[in-house]
Amino acid sequence: MAETYDVIVVGLGGMGSAAAYHLARRGRRVLGLERFTAAHDRGSSHGGSRLIRQAYFEDPAYVPLVLRAYELWRELEEAADTELLLITGLLIIGGPDSEIVAGSLRSAQQWGLEHEVLDAADLARRFPTFAPDPDTTALYEAQAGVLRPEAAVAAHLRLAADVGAELRFSAPVLDWEADVAGQGVTVTTESGPARAERLVVCPGAWAPDVLADLGVPLQIERHVQFWIQPDGGLDLFLPGRHPAWLWDGGAGDGLPYGIPAVDGPEGGVKVSWHRMGRPCQPDDLDRTVAPAEFEAITEAVRARVPALAGRFLRAAPCMYTNTPDDHFVVGPHPGHPQVVVAAGFCGHGFKFAPVIGEIVADLVVTGETAHPIGLFDPGRFR
Ligand SMILES: Cc1cc2nc3c(=O)[nH]c(=O)nc-3n(C[C@H](O)[C@H](O)[C@H](O)COP(=O)(O)OP(=O)(O)OC[C@H]3O[C@@H](n4cnc5c(N)ncnc54)[C@H](O)[C@@H]3O)c2cc1C
Repeated sequence: MAETYDVIVVGLGGMGSAAAYHLARRGRRVLGLERFTAAHDRGSSHGGSRLIRQAYFEDPAYVPLVLRAYELWRELEEAADTELLLITGLLIIGGPDSEIVAGSLRSAQQWGLEHEVLDAADLARRFPTFAPDPDTTALYEAQAGVLRPEAAVAAHLRLAADVGAELRFSAPVLDWEADVAGQGVTVTTESGPARAERLVVCPGAWAPDVLADLGVPLQIERHVQFWIQPDGGLDLFLPGRHPAWLWDGGAGDGLPYGIPAVDGPEGGVKVSWHRMGRPCQPDDLDRTVAPAEFEAITEAVRARVPALAGRFLRAAPCMYTNTPDDHFVVGPHPGHPQVVVAAGFCGHGFKFAPVIGEIVADLVVTGETAHPIGLFDPGRFR
């Protein structure tokens, strides 16, 4: 006889941990199933830091969601009694034709967000670690900051358990099946089947497998996070002194970015590339990082922030789950109304985790949400 629940959540990473918490908080009997341990480093939510920003170049439609996410991050910090969000400021930098800078500005203007536009001279004066070309332009967002992903996942999980969610780790879901009548689901695990009225699927990079019938062409990409110990020391890069930054290098040079030194005196400065990953399989992710990969990122970074010249400390590969239009996949499964999916976060989803949890809980509990999620329609590629 299968155990029965109101909702089963598959995958307890960034999104699934938030969904389990918001569902359990609303009184649902939740079973959460995770193939690895709590807040592990095998998926997409590890590496100590994630950027949160408001002037959203990807689409202004994300802005109300990120503003709600800020509120929920602060509520989570209070409930869990832990610091998760550090305001550091962020510079979005590019050439005169940068769509990333222009898109950020559009979002800021449309939503009346606090921002400053800097030319190359302003940038070099205000933030002397940067070496801009004369035609560089930048948008400074003072309210942007850095989130702590592992601590955030752990906080959501702990609070979900506190309000009654049953969470199982090292518990891979082998299969799931939705009843034809649209009423229930059966999930198969190594310890047997479990039944629920509703299913929430948040599988991260395993989505092409776990959501094979979704009809969304997903591509998994390996992205490496690097930590550099600057030769001149960390002082210049400490939060409060140095903002986070994302630099539109144009075609071929991707979007190198850096995060202030939030990892302690020996932790270095984290740098990486947005949108310069290589295709991978989640069960076969290459976790070794070649010297050439470190040389490539240091070259890109040093040309823009010369004081970041320094020593390689460590590297951590991680995975993006990309959709063809770079927008998320959140909503009812087009083939199974009792199944809600939250996947395809395209390397920019973490900042939204608590609001995705809230949206998923809305959809499960009431069948609708007041949040604007039209952009994320799971049926849009069918
Ligand atoms: C290098 C890097 C930098 C990033 N930087 C930013 C940033 O600055 N700002 C930002 O907002 N976002 C950023 N992102 C994106 C963000 O981290 C992701 O969008 C987010 O973490 C995705 O969360 P998720 O829940 O979809 O995936 P995950 O957190 O990986 O969770 C998926 C979970 O599902 C589990 N699972 C899968 N299959 C099964 C199964 N069959 N049974 C049980 N469990 C299963 C997995 O083990 C995993 O725990 C970055 C991502 C990377 C890789």
